[in-house]
Amino acid sequence: MTFHKNLIDGEWIGESKVPNINPSDTNDVVGEYASAGLEEAKAAIAAAKAASHSWARSGILERHAILRKTADEIMARKEELGRLLSREEGKTLAEGIGETIRAGQIFDFFAGEALRLVGEIIPSVRPGIGVEITREPVGVVGIITPWNFPIAIPAWKIAPALCYGNTIVFKPAELVPGCSWAIVDILHRAGLPKGVLNLVMGKGSIVGQAMLDSPDINAITFTGSVGTGKRVAAASIEHNRKFQLEMGGKNPFVVLDDADLSVAVESAVNSSFFSTGQRCTASSRLIVTDGIHDKFVAAMTERLKGLVVDDALKPGTHIGPVVDATQLKQDMDYIEIGRQEGAKIAFGGERLDRETPGFYLQPTLFTEATNAMRISREEIFGPVASVIRVKDYEEALAVANDTPFGLSSGIATTSLKHATHFKRNAEAGMVMVNLPTAGVDFHVPFGGRKGSSYGPREQGKYAAEFYTVVKTAYTQA
Ligand code: ADP
Repeated sequence: MTFHKNLIDGEWIGESKVPNINPSDTNDVVGEYASAGLEEAKAAIAAAKAASHSWARSGILERHAILRKTADEIMARKEELGRLLSREEGKTLAEGIGETIRAGQIFDFFAGEALRLVGEIIPSVRPGIGVEITREPVGVVGIITPWNFPIAIPAWKIAPALCYGNTIVFKPAELVPGCSWAIVDILHRAGLPKGVLNLVMGKGSIVGQAMLDSPDINAITFTGSVGTGKRVAAASIEHNRKFQLEMGGKNPFVVLDDADLSVAVESAVNSSFFSTGQRCTASSRLIVTDGIHDKFVAAMTERLKGLVVDDALKPGTHIGPVVDATQLKQDMDYIEIGRQEGAKIAFGGERLDRETPGFYLQPTLFTEATNAMRISREEIFGPVASVIRVKDYEEALAVANDTPFGLSSGIATTSLKHATHFKRNAEAGMVMVNLPTAGVDFHVPFGGRKGSSYGPREQGKYAAEFYTVVKTAYTQA
């Protein structure tokens, strides 16, 4: 079996091996991956620091060419990488390939951005003096990623970091090292100088913590749980470093009486259950007005009966397994909590056995839920959603906003008035009208409000806010 090592200062190194297990079939080992210790983490940080000065001064054409080459190779290998992704994470093959294409598009976008770096020249208020405003790299960027988007999230952090001239210490999630290793390998072969991109697969409590504790990391971009996000924040304040957090969601999807029923059902099924509900933009609160409530629940139940839950790589599978045993237990615990809180299960709620041993769970729809229940307030991160009945649009909006989170918020309606009002008043970073709450473009800003996110937006041109620092220079001619 191939042993995939860490990349530190341009060398592949590592001794301790961890198996990468397929959640659709726990007998299937995807590969063996290195698990770094504290010394390797420190070496990676030192390498990134040493490479930082010269990479900050690298030519934009060099950065463009490396990002462009990476995009091309990801696109050319989309089937293979998409298969690897589905095998290690458990989303369906179509979703795995789709996510891989998206990673390619992100590298392509930032390859272009490297050629479009601009500043501003502004007259000073003092005659005879000129003012230049430019963007410079931050320095060493620490990248910590979660397991649910094994290639897209690393791509949307690595590509802008390199584009704007930063060096990187990259720690992927323990459960899905495969895709991260593959893109680091591609970038390395595309010609990155040594030390510019360092891969340190390993434990959050060791490698991640070493990154948080290091004064030599100038910025940390993190996607993951609220608890770890708070540690990143506290440690970053201590070191006066920039940080960006993308954490949980409890995204609402409102369905109004005037909605097109099939648009509402398709958007809700996609939002709540595709990718096994394991998306921070997934919708777990379906807020439905009285007049359409019963029709909506009946149509949802009918639609859920037709969904196939099986091995992520099998043709015909709509929903793959949950990512691992810990996550499955969390999902089952919340299903039990929902029952005890008095919500009714309209569909699902049970574990499933398939040909291979895997973490299969029925998509689960609760009805008669209230917004005060724990299943409506806490992020479950699985294929579990609750229908909350409301009397009208005003109540729907109030319930949608009554949450500690604020990532994505959706509505199904044919009313221009309500759609417009919702777009203006939803307390979320992203708003979707007649679309699922999940599924976003790669070239526009991504991020949330309230307890979901902190710091500048990711992706698109807005990514420059995080990956650069602004300098204002005055010259007297
Ligand atoms: P999830 O519940 O999605 O696994 P986590 O916040 O635990 O969310 O994990 C997200 C990322 O944060 C992973 O790469 C994980 O290894 C990392 N991580 C976990 N603990 C720490 C820590 N103490 N310091 C830094 N990173 C950590």
